[in-house]
Amino acid sequence: MDKRQELYHGKAKTVYATDDPHRLVMHYRDDVSAFDGVKLAKLDLKGETNNKINAYVMGKLAAAGVPTHFVRVLNERESLVKAMKMIPVECVVRNVCAGSMAKRYGIEEGRRLAEPIFEFFLKSDALHDPLCNDDHIRVLGWASQAEIDEMRALTHKVNAVLTPLFAAAGIDLVDYKLEFGHPTEDPTGPVVLGDEFTPDGCRLWDAATGEKFDKDRFRRDLGDVIGHYRQVAQRIGAPL
Ligand code: UDP
Repeated sequence: MDKRQELYHGKAKTVYATDDPHRLVMHYRDDVSAFDGVKLAKLDLKGETNNKINAYVMGKLAAAGVPTHFVRVLNERESLVKAMKMIPVECVVRNVCAGSMAKRYGIEEGRRLAEPIFEFFLKSDALHDPLCNDDHIRVLGWASQAEIDEMRALTHKVNAVLTPLFAAAGIDLVDYKLEFGHPTEDPTGPVVLGDEFTPDGCRLWDAATGEKFDKDRFRRDLGDVIGHYRQVAQRIGAPL
């Protein structure tokens, strides 16, 4: 497998082509961003820590029957993934009320939800990722009803795998964001999980103390961001 030209430079990852048109290299940089790219920094060891956490979580999801784009780890900060055509919406699941949901409805952060709440957001930094529903997505042509149903079902399946995985490590999986698409090698086949699962895209609170172990440490200037990311890896058993 040969790494070729850079294709995209995202906020925390860079994607490279390979000699196989259906495979890409996902490179995890040390960059961190928040508030739609307004707050930026570089954090030592972030890239390799997230590459390893993502590989471990994607492996667990695949083993539980969730189709993912992850193929294998290549080196400390790079993984091989299937090339995907992504659906331009973000899928968020919430087990505990926090962040934008707490603000939107005037509910205190930390209220445990009687059942998981699923939300769609349009993926657009320029528009600050507005909340949207099935009708917006279908009528405006961002995805079909079948894709909407598959994304929702897969997201709930992910929740059924990851909530106990983190609970066993003494961590509450409060909320997280997933992105889906279709592998370019099977564009009309089932929806597949893409992007990443790392502490950049979820909220993780210590089950006993409520201490935050996720990107809110960066957003809210709580300090020692990567020390906490690495503790997550250690606690769930992801090799560093
Ligand atoms: N999230 C994300 N990328 C986004 C928006 C949200 O990874 O563009 C994650 C975020 O880290 C949190 C969950 O999705 O774990 C829910 O985020 P929320 O809607 O509460 O927005 P935030 O408070 O992060 O602005």
